Amino acid sequence: MANIVEQQFEAYEATAQAGTTRPPYRFPDIDLQTPTSLPTQKQISRALHRITAADLMQDLVNSAPVAASWHISCSLPGSGSWLHTMPYVNRVSAKTWRTMFCLRMMAPIPEATGIDRCVPGCSCTGWQLQLGFHWMSGCEKLSYNTVRHNAVAAVLRKLFKKIGWETRFKEQAGWVVGAPDLRPYDVPARPNSSTPWMGIDVAVADPSRHGYLSSGQRYFKKAAAAARYVHKKQTKYNRLLTRHSIRYLVNYTPLGFEVTGGFSKKVCSLLSDLLESEEAAKATLSATEWSWSAMGLPAYFQQAISFEIVRMTALSVQNGIRRAQAAAISRPAGSDSD
Ligand SMILES: [Zn+2]
Repeated sequence: MANIVEQQFEAYEATAQAGTTRPPYRFPDIDLQTPTSLPTQKQISRALHRITAADLMQDLVNSAPVAASWHISCSLPGSGSWLHTMPYVNRVSAKTWRTMFCLRMMAPIPEATGIDRCVPGCSCTGWQLQLGFHWMSGCEKLSYNTVRHNAVAAVLRKLFKKIGWETRFKEQAGWVVGAPDLRPYDVPARPNSSTPWMGIDVAVADPSRHGYLSSGQRYFKKAAAAARYVHKKQTKYNRLLTRHSIRYLVNYTPLGFEVTGGFSKKVCSLLSDLLESEEAAKATLSATEWSWSAMGLPAYFQQAISFEIVRMTALSVQNGIRRAQAAAISRPAGSDSD
């Protein structure tokens, strides 16, 4: 018994470093004279499961760091939410659904079998092609990054509308004095005209892009890819403020997501603040929205955002595969050049 406790704490050390686990389960004090004080079978199994999970993580970190980053991102809140949506409501083809699923499982995409290089002008030739990972965001030639980003902004806009906040399209107002072409916020929103705007800037990061790791880091810890992107956005915004002034009172709010559909902590707390507010209590879901499996606004929007991110990511991958196949057909036989 003592051995399990010890192992559990060791395992906790390992995964806590990876930033991906809860504290170890605390056994009740064990008194061998009182058998009823012994942990239940369920408590012991839970501890053993955590040891197994921690061992697995340690293996991944050592042998397949991208898989470690991916696994951690797949355990973020929101990341698996799209799996709970009803397929008949979300009109995606079976092929798209399969791609979404393969990406999550890090399984080869059937359509990508045999593809050994990307399109002309892109130098990628590696394993990222079979897994589709190359086209999630990193391809130099093909990506749906902007489309995915806009899809998330559209869901957030719908959310604000639902709870009665005023929103604007980023194009509609000259936010930056003297530079109407600059649009630092994707979704400006406010509860009423006497409050400052919340200037939401959406950032969807890809934790499989290890080229963005700081030196000495082997993989992305929990939500670290999203945090990196948010930091980049904040720095850019600060730079903008040194050169321009903003016409209205705006609280800049960069929000970090990951391509697995996962949310950063800030997204989670913002969603729960908004959706547990008085305004949200008055909001209702329409009949078609109810046919998602979500039983309330918070779950509904968590699913909707997660689904949009993963759907757009899968579409981007499918597009990449099609283009790479087309390029392979038009390439002269035996040609090795781009
Ligand atoms: Zn490429």
